[in-house]
Amino acid sequence: MTLPAAPVPETVPGTARPTARPAAKAPAKSPAQKAMDKLGLRRAIDLALHLPLRYEDETRIVRLADARDGEVVQIEGEVMHSEVLIRARRQLLVTVDDGSDTCLLRFLNFYPSHQKTLSVGARVRVRGELRGGFLGREMMHPHFKLAGGELPGALTPVYPTSAGLPQVYLRKAVLSGVARADLNETIPPHFLSQNLPLRLSSLREALQFLHHPTPDAALQTLEDRSHPAWQRLKVEELLAQQISQLQARRVRAAMRAPALNGPAMRGAHCTLQAQLLERLPFRLTGAQQRVGAEIEIDLKKSIPMHRLLQGDVGSGKTVVAALAAARCIDAGWQCALMAPTEILAEQHFSKLIGWLEPLGITTARLSGSQKPKERREMLALIESGQAGLVIGTHAVIQAKVVFKNLALAIIDEQHRFGVAQRLALRSKMTGSAEDSGQEPHLLMMTATPIPRTLAMSYYADLDVSTLDELPPGRTPIVTKLVNDARRDEVIARIQAQIAEGRQIYWVCPLIEESESIDLVNATQTHAALSEALPDVMVGLLHSRMPPAEKKAVMSLFTDGVMAVLVSTTVIEVGVDVPNASLMVIEHAERFGLSQLHQLRGRVGRGAAASACVLLYSTGDAPRLGEVARARLKAMAETNDGFEIARRDLEIRGPGEFLGARQSGAALLRFADLQTDAGLLAWAREVAPLMLDGYPDLAERHVLRWLGGKAEFLKA
Ligand code: ADP
Ligand code: MG
Repeated sequence: MTLPAAPVPETVPGTARPTARPAAKAPAKSPAQKAMDKLGLRRAIDLALHLPLRYEDETRIVRLADARDGEVVQIEGEVMHSEVLIRARRQLLVTVDDGSDTCLLRFLNFYPSHQKTLSVGARVRVRGELRGGFLGREMMHPHFKLAGGELPGALTPVYPTSAGLPQVYLRKAVLSGVARADLNETIPPHFLSQNLPLRLSSLREALQFLHHPTPDAALQTLEDRSHPAWQRLKVEELLAQQISQLQARRVRAAMRAPALNGPAMRGAHCTLQAQLLERLPFRLTGAQQRVGAEIEIDLKKSIPMHRLLQGDVGSGKTVVAALAAARCIDAGWQCALMAPTEILAEQHFSKLIGWLEPLGITTARLSGSQKPKERREMLALIESGQAGLVIGTHAVIQAKVVFKNLALAIIDEQHRFGVAQRLALRSKMTGSAEDSGQEPHLLMMTATPIPRTLAMSYYADLDVSTLDELPPGRTPIVTKLVNDARRDEVIARIQAQIAEGRQIYWVCPLIEESESIDLVNATQTHAALSEALPDVMVGLLHSRMPPAEKKAVMSLFTDGVMAVLVSTTVIEVGVDVPNASLMVIEHAERFGLSQLHQLRGRVGRGAAASACVLLYSTGDAPRLGEVARARLKAMAETNDGFEIARRDLEIRGPGEFLGARQSGAALLRFADLQTDAGLLAWAREVAPLMLDGYPDLAERHVLRWLGGKAEFLKA
């Protein structure tokens, strides 16, 4: 595995301009440099780690007679014929004979220089995809040059690139990056010889090989990334990720949080938690008790909790949050609960108030749409510490909000918030009136469970509690896929449900027609349903309505006055109306899988048999696209949120799955959590050994792989 002889520029081409004058103004960047910046190719090591998408084999000349149609081959031969055809479309046709057979080269775009090089009698080297054509074999727009010159000793890399960054330029830049980067080993060799399925080469060898593999390399193993050189890179990458997460965990373990040990000032009374439990109209499920106990243990520690509570829609996360809040407030501290939408915040507000206010807890509410006077009052309640519980939307993390002593931050539907927002909520503690230099405990809740492999890899710095049991008495939801053409049947079904006193959700993806996407919008559907169902109230809810109006519509539905609620996805999370037993989702093919699952979770909350109808439309196409079909099929086949999440991961891949997190975080570029589970296990084992035994190497390793992104990963 040696690097083929090739010119190695001293620096990245284009950056080598000597700056004679003191750099008052940095020289303007070339388009290629800008493109490289965009691709994150700044440091030499970034370039060295920019690996080929695929390779081209220019190392061999193939005889036409030995080549198969469909193969990309390089041939050498003599130009026998050349002509410009003007008929249907102007094109250059050139016939080449390599002694074993002939081949037609076809160019639809060409310049005089093409014709000159490819003139009759010239010997040329041509590379392209061979196709069987009407006039015999041919190549469309092949690469070509005059024959002769040495054949390269290695495969030619083709790198991922973007507009304005030619392959040739990028190739040189990468070559130079590999030459300049510090590729010294950071993983002690004895770790690499332990528990790994194969012997791996050094990082330098692996990189040199992957950029310029020898032609005898099994292309298959390069493509599926099972080649030992690939394995070496995956091992490095996974280790960097695991070390960085472990570091984050340790940093957090060194931080202090208030230990919430029982009632602070109320003396020896029955705890708020006990009082709350007594008043609940139901008994906790086994899962709720178990998860509650896990949270209890964390809250009593003086290390900040960092826990994800995952539970399917309807599994009863809110009451678990309320119990944690009760413990916090009982200990004399404040608790903040942040929800992604006003409707959801409102729901929490009414539910938690109903539970907690009778216990003597003052609750403050914050929302973006509040009147200034109300807002001022709320802010005062929060700053004075009078409000034990603060509930709201993003309004909770605004600068003006000062807590007296925040000890517990709860984030509902955490996947809807970005890292920055989570950080802001945590920083509310250090900015509090009683600045204690401590961190609040953090409880994040989600109905979109994280598949185990992802949790292990991306959320290593997170403790996970799972509600794996639904409260009793729920009836499973039957899901049906219905072609939009059969809409009338669905409306008939709605009528039958209404006759039984049930309520119905009808969800549409957009509120207005956009020029490009001609969707039946919520307003239209609302009008149509109102007409079809003249005897009942049909309401409309969408995100552009003023909050007061939204609230009014919601309470008409909650109180059972309104039979049908047509809405956009504003009801996606958290809305709780047990009497609603039918959910119709229009243009279901446009929704993501977890969104569909969340929506479906709005029904099946009471004792009545519930159903979800996924109306799909194929538009002009004869059938649904593959991805949409896979999603809808998954929905029809299972009600289990974990299974849905697993399939979602399968359909979308981890990059999209992680959503907001992906924006700043280093996603795995090389390793694949599905196929490389063994390597991930190795990295998890080695990470603590590296940090403890070789802290300097660990530091260098993380820096090499994650650069400035490591900080972000810790959020
Ligand atoms: P989610 O996990 O989706 O946030 P919620 O907390 O909104 O679920 O709970 C869904 C419904 O189930 C609510 O009406 C809630 O009061 C009710 N609930 C929660 N726990 C139980 C339980 N142990 N027994 C019966 N009903 C419960
Ligand atoms: Mg909820």
